[in-house]
Amino acid sequence: MGDPRKIAVIGAGHVGSHVAMGLLAQDLCGRLVLLDIDEAKARAQADDLQDAAVLAPGGARVWAGDYRDLADAGFAVVCAGSLLVCEDRLQELSASLEVMDQIIPGLRGCGFGGVLLVITNPVDLTARYLSERLGLPWGRVLGSGTTLDSCRLVRELSRRTGTPPAAIRGFVVGEHGDSQVPLWSGVTAEGLPLRELAARDPRWKALDREETAEAVRRAGWEILCGKGSTEFGIGAAAGEIIRAVQRDTGRVLPVSVPMKNGVFASLPCALGKNGAERVAEPEMLPEERERFEASCRRLEEIWNQTVEGRKP
Ligand code: NAD
Repeated sequence: MGDPRKIAVIGAGHVGSHVAMGLLAQDLCGRLVLLDIDEAKARAQADDLQDAAVLAPGGARVWAGDYRDLADAGFAVVCAGSLLVCEDRLQELSASLEVMDQIIPGLRGCGFGGVLLVITNPVDLTARYLSERLGLPWGRVLGSGTTLDSCRLVRELSRRTGTPPAAIRGFVVGEHGDSQVPLWSGVTAEGLPLRELAARDPRWKALDREETAEAVRRAGWEILCGKGSTEFGIGAAAGEIIRAVQRDTGRVLPVSVPMKNGVFASLPCALGKNGAERVAEPEMLPEERERFEASCRRLEEIWNQTVEGRKP
């Protein structure tokens, strides 16, 4: 499985550098290697991160390397891409697949035996593409999926009700994109479901679910418009996924994994030393299940139209 404290970040842009900084700050790695097609950028990011690592708790070593460095790595995080400022992440698909084609030979040839965490958008499709092209076992390739959207759901609920974010639980499932589905039936605050919360607190009673879901769906776009990238949230989400796998905690997070028909989409999954260990299927109301299945169908259709049959 490789050394779980040796982590490679492929693509050292906004996302890659924030993932890396999060790993250092939380002492989740002892050795951190950055790969980027722009080697000068990878070296500069590695130097900057190594400066930070001098003061970080674990005193990790950071360097700019190549695919040979992945042979004994426990994780590779794929953030390579060419970010487009576009509202629908699917518009990135064609450029992202070209980047995936560039990194596949390196990943194939290096003997990497760890967990591949895919972040490049549209993440459900790039994760499936890498998984199928690399032929790794179920759960060893996972997309960050709707982990970030679930944080955004909690953030929105907290803002609208005044409840501290740490007291709120809730998952978004399906596509990390426009067809995502918030599971209202599973939302709790201080352990109470929405029905109870509405009965006790006027702010929860006044909560407009449609408006909240729309704010969550548009959250990435709003950040992108304001600052040209999104990076802190995904950096934290990647750190949480890696911590759960590295420490074999069984923590449940909504990551993107293959469903029965091969479509990658997010459902809550128990994370452990092998990556995603199993889907922790949540209860869903019939209309939530229908929307989740529609989200999977949309991903399947796009896969069939644009990816299936593509020459490697
Ligand atoms: P960026 O442009 O800042 O960085 C991308 C980096 O990838 C660049 O440094 C580029 O040189 C590098 N790169 C390109 N081709 C490469 C290759 N073949 N090998 C190695 N490196 C290569 O973009 P960003 O803001 O860091 O975003 C990266 C990706 O992450 C985008 O697809 C973006 O949509 C996605 N993203 C996903 C989530 C999520 O929740 N899944 C959140 C934020 C961003």
